[in-house]
Amino acid sequence: MIDLHLHTTASDGRSTPEELVREAALAGLTTIAVTDHDTTASIAEVTGAAEASGMTCVPGIEITAVHNGQDVHMLGYFLDADNGELAEFLAGQREDRRRRLFEMADELDRLGMPIDRGRLQAAERDSKRALGRPMLADALVRAGYVATISEAFERFLGTDKPAFISRRGASPAEVVELITRAGGLSSLAHPGKSNLDAIIPELVAGGLGAIEVYHPDHDERQTTHYRELARRHGVLVTGGSDYHGAGSGRTSGFGRVTLPVDDYERLVGRAGWTA
Ligand code: AMP
Ligand code: ZN
Ligand code: FE
Ligand code: FE
Repeated sequence: MIDLHLHTTASDGRSTPEELVREAALAGLTTIAVTDHDTTASIAEVTGAAEASGMTCVPGIEITAVHNGQDVHMLGYFLDADNGELAEFLAGQREDRRRRLFEMADELDRLGMPIDRGRLQAAERDSKRALGRPMLADALVRAGYVATISEAFERFLGTDKPAFISRRGASPAEVVELITRAGGLSSLAHPGKSNLDAIIPELVAGGLGAIEVYHPDHDERQTTHYRELARRHGVLVTGGSDYHGAGSGRTSGFGRVTLPVDDYERLVGRAGWTA
């Protein structure tokens, strides 16, 4: 079983690299990709632990691009995690995550819901770690303003909700080019969540390598739609569980959404990758 969309504690996942690999092995996965938000910090550890348990690990990333103030998640696979331009870009992304999070915390102050910033401040000391809105959601739950992480997003933190502040940064097309220059293959993450089919032709013309077809937030109709769109544009297909670990407020566990072997082999062939 193949799962090419997994998060660790380097971003907003709840599992450390070792825990992630142990959980993946228990679920019967044979090939995984670690795709943390805007950081490559876990790739070496996940790869080492995966190899020790007889699994293959594809180096990956999930970069947040911005289109008209809206976040657009772009996956990158098989890239050189030590690429200098990529590293510099990602450091800037993490800095913008920090800015946004503290600005959103200020918004929560204004809304009369001050949160404990202790964990944010502790986390920001690790410059390789990508901060994210789930930390604010957690703080809102701990303070008792909301009952669940989902409620925090639905009422306050989601796009255009009262405490929402936009990210700043590169366009999806620029991120495609960056991933290509870092030796990687790009994939438009969970397009069914973002309503941006209109920009797909431009991204394909700019070198987009794949579309994420298999994702827990895609229903059958969307899965079929994006599979067909990928075929029509002559790009490949990726997929995975978008696992964030126990307690993340996301319900998708391992093994429910996987990538067919044929699709995986096409990716490896296109990237010319050897584990
Ligand atoms: P950020 O990276 O700061 O833009 O935050 C986005 C992340 O928050 C996503 O990658 C998810 O992991 C998480 N997230 C978004 N919506 C929800 C939700 N309704 N429930 C739980 N987690 C969510
Ligand atoms: Zn996430
Ligand atoms: Fe995402
Ligand atoms: Fe993700």
